[in-house]
Amino acid sequence: MILILLGPPGSGKGTQARTLTQERGLPQLSTGDMLRAAMTKGTEVGLQAKDIMARGQLVSDEIVNGIVAERIDEPDVRKGFILDGYPRTLGQAAALDKMLADRRRKLDAVIELRITDEDELVRRVSGRYTCAKCGEGYHDTEKKPRKAGACDKCGSTEFKRRPDDTAEAMRTRLKAYANETAPLVDYYAKKGVLQVLDGLGEIDAVKAAIGEVLDKLA
Ligand code: AMP
Repeated sequence: MILILLGPPGSGKGTQARTLTQERGLPQLSTGDMLRAAMTKGTEVGLQAKDIMARGQLVSDEIVNGIVAERIDEPDVRKGFILDGYPRTLGQAAALDKMLADRRRKLDAVIELRITDEDELVRRVSGRYTCAKCGEGYHDTEKKPRKAGACDKCGSTEFKRRPDDTAEAMRTRLKAYANETAPLVDYYAKKGVLQVLDGLGEIDAVKAAIGEVLDKLA
Protein backbone atom coordinates (compact mmCIF):
# COMPACT_ATOMS: atom_id res chain seq x y z
CA MET A 1 0.00 0.00 0.00
CA ILE A 2 1.38 3.37 -1.05
CA LEU A 3 -0.37 6.25 0.62
CA ILE A 4 0.08 10.03 0.61
CA LEU A 5 -1.06 12.11 3.58
CA LEU A 6 -1.80 15.60 2.31
CA GLY A 7 -2.66 18.63 4.42
CA PRO A 8 -1.34 21.93 5.74
CA PRO A 9 1.24 22.15 8.53
CA GLY A 10 -0.52 21.25 11.77
CA SER A 11 -3.21 19.11 10.13
CA GLY A 12 -1.96 15.96 11.86
CA LYS A 13 -0.10 14.19 9.04
CA GLY A 14 2.88 13.26 11.18
CA THR A 15 0.77 12.12 14.14
CA GLN A 16 -1.44 9.93 11.95
CA ALA A 17 1.48 8.56 9.95
CA ARG A 18 3.25 7.47 13.16
CA THR A 19 0.12 5.61 14.29
CA LEU A 20 -0.19 3.89 10.92
CA THR A 21 3.43 2.82 11.17
CA GLN A 22 2.83 1.32 14.62
CA GLU A 23 -0.47 -0.35 13.77
CA ARG A 24 -0.08 -1.36 10.14
CA GLY A 25 3.69 -1.62 9.80
CA LEU A 26 3.82 0.90 6.97
CA PRO A 27 7.03 2.95 7.17
CA GLN A 28 6.54 6.74 7.41
CA LEU A 29 8.54 8.66 4.82
CA SER A 30 8.56 12.25 6.06
CA THR A 31 10.67 14.55 3.90
CA GLY A 32 10.69 17.06 6.77
CA ASP A 33 12.20 14.42 9.09
CA MET A 34 14.70 13.37 6.42
CA LEU A 35 15.80 16.98 5.90
CA ARG A 36 16.10 17.55 9.67
CA ALA A 37 18.20 14.36 9.94
CA ALA A 38 20.43 15.63 7.12
CA MET A 39 20.82 18.92 8.99
CA THR A 40 21.79 17.15 12.20
CA LYS A 41 24.35 15.08 10.31
CA GLY A 42 25.66 18.22 8.61
CA THR A 43 25.43 16.77 5.07
CA GLU A 44 25.48 18.94 1.95
CA VAL A 45 21.69 18.61 1.61
CA GLY A 46 21.23 19.53 5.26
CA LEU A 47 23.37 22.63 4.89
CA GLN A 48 21.46 23.73 1.79
CA ALA A 49 18.08 23.22 3.47
CA LYS A 50 18.76 24.71 6.90
CA ASP A 51 17.95 28.41 6.38
CA ILE A 52 15.16 27.74 3.88
CA MET A 53 13.42 25.49 6.41
CA ALA A 54 13.89 27.89 9.31
CA ARG A 55 12.11 30.57 7.26
CA GLY A 56 9.27 28.21 6.42
CA GLN A 57 9.95 28.19 2.68
CA LEU A 58 10.04 25.12 0.48
CA VAL A 59 13.29 23.32 -0.27
CA SER A 60 13.88 22.81 -4.02
CA ASP A 61 12.08 20.02 -5.86
CA GLU A 62 15.45 18.71 -7.01
CA ILE A 63 16.66 18.13 -3.44
CA VAL A 64 13.50 16.51 -2.09
CA ASN A 65 12.89 14.38 -5.20
CA GLY A 66 16.43 13.11 -4.81
CA ILE A 67 16.03 12.07 -1.18
CA VAL A 68 12.69 10.37 -1.84
CA ALA A 69 14.02 8.48 -4.88
CA GLU A 70 16.85 7.10 -2.74
CA ARG A 71 14.58 6.25 0.18
CA ILE A 72 12.02 4.25 -1.82
CA ASP A 73 14.71 1.88 -3.02
CA GLU A 74 15.48 0.75 0.51
CA PRO A 75 14.32 -2.76 1.45
CA ASP A 76 11.94 -1.81 4.28
CA VAL A 77 9.53 -0.03 1.92
CA ARG A 78 9.03 -2.95 -0.44
CA LYS A 79 5.55 -3.69 0.89
CA GLY A 80 4.47 -0.09 0.96
CA PHE A 81 4.91 3.27 2.69
CA ILE A 82 3.22 6.47 3.75
CA LEU A 83 4.43 9.76 2.34
CA ASP A 84 4.10 12.56 4.88
CA GLY A 85 4.92 16.05 3.60
CA TYR A 86 5.72 14.91 0.06
CA PRO A 87 4.81 15.77 -2.64
CA ARG A 88 4.33 19.47 -1.92
CA THR A 89 4.39 20.91 -5.46
CA LEU A 90 3.00 19.83 -8.83
CA GLY A 91 6.60 19.27 -9.96
CA GLN A 92 7.16 16.86 -7.07
CA ALA A 93 3.89 15.06 -7.85
CA ALA A 94 5.00 14.55 -11.46
CA ALA A 95 8.41 13.33 -10.28
CA LEU A 96 6.73 10.88 -7.90
CA ASP A 97 4.51 9.56 -10.70
CA LYS A 98 7.62 8.85 -12.74
CA MET A 99 9.51 7.31 -9.80
CA LEU A 100 6.63 4.90 -9.14
CA ALA A 101 6.08 4.08 -12.84
CA ASP A 102 9.81 3.34 -13.28
CA ARG A 103 9.56 0.88 -10.39
CA ARG A 104 6.23 -0.58 -11.59
CA ARG A 105 4.57 0.57 -8.40
CA LYS A 106 1.19 2.20 -7.93
CA LEU A 107 -0.14 4.94 -5.68
CA ASP A 108 -3.16 3.55 -3.80
CA ALA A 109 -4.62 6.61 -2.13
CA VAL A 110 -4.13 10.24 -1.21
CA ILE A 111 -5.81 11.22 2.02
CA GLU A 112 -6.27 14.94 2.51
CA LEU A 113 -6.62 16.00 6.15
CA ARG A 114 -8.59 19.13 5.46
CA ILE A 115 -8.41 22.11 7.82
CA THR A 116 -9.18 25.57 6.45
CA ASP A 117 -9.10 27.47 9.77
CA GLU A 118 -5.58 28.98 9.75
CA ASP A 119 -5.85 30.26 13.34
CA GLU A 120 -6.39 26.68 14.47
CA LEU A 121 -3.33 25.52 12.51
CA VAL A 122 -1.16 28.26 14.05
CA ARG A 123 -2.48 27.38 17.51
CA ARG A 124 -1.68 23.69 17.02
CA VAL A 125 1.81 24.25 15.64
CA SER A 126 2.96 27.02 17.97
CA GLY A 127 2.13 24.93 21.04
CA ARG A 128 3.77 21.70 20.01
CA TYR A 129 7.00 20.16 21.25
CA THR A 130 8.55 16.71 21.43
CA CYS A 131 10.61 14.63 23.78
CA ALA A 132 14.24 15.12 22.76
CA LYS A 133 14.98 11.46 23.48
CA CYS A 134 12.11 9.35 22.12
CA GLY A 135 10.25 11.88 19.94
CA GLU A 136 6.88 11.57 21.72
CA GLY A 137 4.76 14.59 20.83
CA TYR A 138 3.20 17.05 23.31
CA HIS A 139 1.30 20.34 23.22
CA ASP A 140 1.25 23.28 25.68
CA THR A 141 -2.50 23.07 26.18
CA GLU A 142 -3.80 19.93 24.40
CA LYS A 143 -1.42 17.25 25.57
CA LYS A 144 0.83 17.95 28.52
CA PRO A 145 3.01 15.20 30.02
CA ARG A 146 1.17 13.46 32.89
CA LYS A 147 4.03 14.37 35.22
CA ALA A 148 5.10 17.93 34.52
CA GLY A 149 8.52 18.12 32.88
CA ALA A 150 8.98 14.38 32.23
CA CYS A 151 8.12 12.39 29.11
CA ASP A 152 5.25 9.91 29.63
CA LYS A 153 6.96 7.34 27.43
CA CYS A 154 10.63 7.39 28.37
CA GLY A 155 10.89 9.68 31.41
CA SER A 156 13.37 12.03 29.75
CA THR A 157 13.26 15.62 31.00
CA GLU A 158 14.54 17.15 27.78
CA PHE A 159 12.14 18.49 25.23
CA LYS A 160 12.57 20.38 21.98
CA ARG A 161 10.62 22.68 19.69
CA ARG A 162 11.07 23.03 15.95
CA PRO A 163 12.63 26.36 14.93
CA ASP A 164 10.00 26.71 12.17
CA ASP A 165 7.04 26.27 14.54
CA THR A 166 6.95 30.01 15.23
CA ALA A 167 3.99 32.21 14.25
CA GLU A 168 6.17 34.02 11.69
CA ALA A 169 7.55 30.92 9.93
CA MET A 170 4.05 29.43 10.09
CA ARG A 171 2.67 32.33 8.02
CA THR A 172 5.21 31.54 5.30
CA ARG A 173 4.48 27.81 5.53
CA LEU A 174 0.75 28.41 5.16
CA LYS A 175 1.35 30.63 2.12
CA ALA A 176 3.55 27.94 0.58
CA TYR A 177 0.78 25.42 1.22
CA ALA A 178 -1.90 27.60 -0.40
CA ASN A 179 0.22 28.51 -3.43
CA GLU A 180 2.25 25.37 -4.09
CA THR A 181 0.61 22.40 -2.38
CA ALA A 182 -3.15 23.01 -2.49
CA PRO A 183 -3.21 22.47 -6.30
CA LEU A 184 -2.35 18.83 -5.59
CA VAL A 185 -5.88 18.31 -4.28
CA ASP A 186 -7.25 18.77 -7.81
CA TYR A 187 -4.37 16.85 -9.33
CA TYR A 188 -5.13 13.73 -7.30
CA ALA A 189 -8.92 14.18 -7.47
CA LYS A 190 -8.60 13.99 -11.27
CA LYS A 191 -6.63 10.77 -10.94
CA GLY A 192 -9.47 9.33 -8.84
CA VAL A 193 -7.32 8.56 -5.79
CA LEU A 194 -8.25 11.45 -3.46
CA GLN A 195 -10.15 10.95 -0.18
CA VAL A 196 -10.95 14.09 1.82
CA LEU A 197 -11.28 13.79 5.60
CA ASP A 198 -12.08 16.42 8.20
CA GLY A 199 -8.78 17.08 9.95
CA LEU A 200 -10.36 19.10 12.75
CA GLY A 201 -11.60 16.09 14.71
CA GLU A 202 -9.93 14.47 17.71
CA ILE A 203 -6.81 12.42 16.90
CA ASP A 204 -8.69 9.14 17.45
CA ALA A 205 -11.64 10.17 15.28
CA VAL A 206 -9.32 11.08 12.39
CA LYS A 207 -7.43 7.85 12.94
CA ALA A 208 -10.67 5.85 12.70
CA ALA A 209 -11.68 7.68 9.50
CA ILE A 210 -8.30 6.89 7.92
CA GLY A 211 -8.66 3.28 9.05
CA GLU A 212 -12.01 3.02 7.25
CA VAL A 213 -10.53 4.36 4.01
CA LEU A 214 -7.62 1.91 4.18
CA ASP A 215 -9.82 -1.07 5.08
CA LYS A 216 -11.98 -0.39 2.03
CA LEU A 217 -8.91 -0.30 -0.18
CA ALA A 218 -7.41 -3.51 1.22
P1 AMP B 1 7.46 19.30 7.67
O1 AMP B 1 8.23 18.56 8.72
O2 AMP B 1 6.77 18.41 6.69
O3 AMP B 1 6.55 20.35 8.24
O4 AMP B 1 8.55 20.10 6.80
C1 AMP B 1 9.36 21.08 7.39
C2 AMP B 1 10.05 21.91 6.32
O5 AMP B 1 10.89 21.06 5.52
C3 AMP B 1 9.12 22.58 5.30
O6 AMP B 1 8.60 23.81 5.77
C4 AMP B 1 10.08 22.77 4.13
O7 AMP B 1 10.99 23.82 4.38
C5 AMP B 1 10.87 21.47 4.16
N1 AMP B 1 10.20 20.40 3.39
C6 AMP B 1 9.71 19.22 3.85
N2 AMP B 1 9.17 18.50 2.88
C7 AMP B 1 9.31 19.24 1.74
C8 AMP B 1 8.93 19.05 0.39
N3 AMP B 1 8.28 17.94 0.01
N4 AMP B 1 9.23 20.03 -0.50
C9 AMP B 1 9.88 21.15 -0.13
N5 AMP B 1 10.25 21.41 1.13
C10 AMP B 1 9.97 20.46 2.07
